[in-house]
Amino acid sequence: MTQTLSNYIGGQFVPSRSEKTDPVYNPATEEILAYVPLSTKEEVDLAVQAAAKAGRSWAKTAVPRRARILFKYQQLLVEHWEELARLITAENGKSYAEAYGEVQRGIECVEFAAGAPTLMMGKQLPDIATNLESGMYRYPIGVVAGITPFNFPMMVPCWMFPLAIACGNAFVLKPSERTPLLAQRLAELFAEAGLPDGVLNVVHGAHDVVNGILEHPGIAAISFVGSQPVAEYVYKTASSYGKRVQALAGAKNHSIVMPSADLDAAVTQIVSAAFGSAGERCMACSVVVAVGDVAEPLIGKLKQAADEISIGNGADEGVFLGPVIRQAHKERTLSYIEAGEQEGAKLVRDGRRDDAANGKGYFVGPTIFDEVTCEMKIWRDEIFAPVLSVMRAETLEEAIEISNRSDFANGACLFTQDGSDVRQFREHIDAGMLGVNLGVPAPMAFFPFSGWKNSFYGDLHANGTDGVEFYTRKKMVTARW
Ligand code: NAD
Repeated sequence: MTQTLSNYIGGQFVPSRSEKTDPVYNPATEEILAYVPLSTKEEVDLAVQAAAKAGRSWAKTAVPRRARILFKYQQLLVEHWEELARLITAENGKSYAEAYGEVQRGIECVEFAAGAPTLMMGKQLPDIATNLESGMYRYPIGVVAGITPFNFPMMVPCWMFPLAIACGNAFVLKPSERTPLLAQRLAELFAEAGLPDGVLNVVHGAHDVVNGILEHPGIAAISFVGSQPVAEYVYKTASSYGKRVQALAGAKNHSIVMPSADLDAAVTQIVSAAFGSAGERCMACSVVVAVGDVAEPLIGKLKQAADEISIGNGADEGVFLGPVIRQAHKERTLSYIEAGEQEGAKLVRDGRRDDAANGKGYFVGPTIFDEVTCEMKIWRDEIFAPVLSVMRAETLEEAIEISNRSDFANGACLFTQDGSDVRQFREHIDAGMLGVNLGVPAPMAFFPFSGWKNSFYGDLHANGTDGVEFYTRKKMVTARW
């Protein structure tokens, strides 16, 4: 019988009281892997109570002891690497190689958090005046909640709970209802590493759980990652309840290709960034701006490389492009392809014609549009699927101006062999994460994940010292002895 997932509250797997469930599909096979309960606000409250209780002693646990549990957790995640990667592929659809890479990015977050004794240090100045000293001490903030998307079932939760917990907070995680399986293993392994009961809790569900979190007076801060409209809603609602919020949102990342670029290397990077993980990455390359006479050879090479992509179940050897997450998302993607044709973009490669797109599973083949303009909705909206738009510009300045017109500003890339282009790009592009001769400039866990504009709501970003600032508060002590 297919399992219905339980919530994880106070160190116990507790069946949800809700009778509502959603099926969790393997998007490559349409098989139902499990049912996820759509829990209620009351269950959020139970998790917050458990977290608040456990958090009182966890906050007082010596920081090196907390760090030691994170070291043990890191070891266990390494030991379970393949199992976790297989689970990601089953529930998300991305290829095993990409899932394996995602586990690595998750583990790196735990490694960063294990530096808690250094990260939690304050600062002192012994002489602010004669016999007067002043010092800053860092403390946890209490119960933190995390709300996560489907596209990185391991990495994105790991941006949040390991660091929040290392900083002495207790945590309530609401994973995506479309990819909830991994969260259960992440919680089990943390418990096995010695995390006390109640410090990490998992409540499954959708809107009701999110709204319960946003309103709950016992939650001090919320880390959210997901689509732009929901990020904006979460940010505005939770901050109106006086909470600290960081809300990471959608994207439309542009890659500019200069005539001096090594075209073959650029094509390899762009194809991987546009079609890897079925385009379901907030750092996906969804628009290429070809500068000068690079457009024709670039488009030819992109099409050829896209034709060679192997599409199928991500669990199978050699597969590069897996399915999108659900049938509804496939239909939405197909409607964008139709819209692109109607708006007058030139369809260079039609992913609807690939065999896989016409069989079982939610597959869409790699799709490339040329002659896309800023008036088209395929340029404006985040499609979040293997659909790449190519635009043309005469100069780098014009290409940067096109990229800067987007409401989103997560990442941007430049392909060039000219150092002065790099400087012009770095100084004038409006985006928070830049790549040079690289397709996906996602920063490592010890740097902030720095989206700008509508790709981020808040002040302190996820990861790095921004993450430490977000999950801690400070006491200033000024003393005369
Ligand atoms: P989503 O917004 O649909 O869901 C994210 C979370 O919000 C889920 O846990 C979901 O249950 C909840 N949610 C969804 N609709 C809600 C509503 N109306 N009210 C309350 N809660 C709601 O996002 P998704 O489709 O799971 O993930 C893809 C999106 O996430 C893309 O837009 C992608 O760019 C973005 N993303 C951004 C980053 C980043 O770092 N900026 C990273 C990963 C993903």
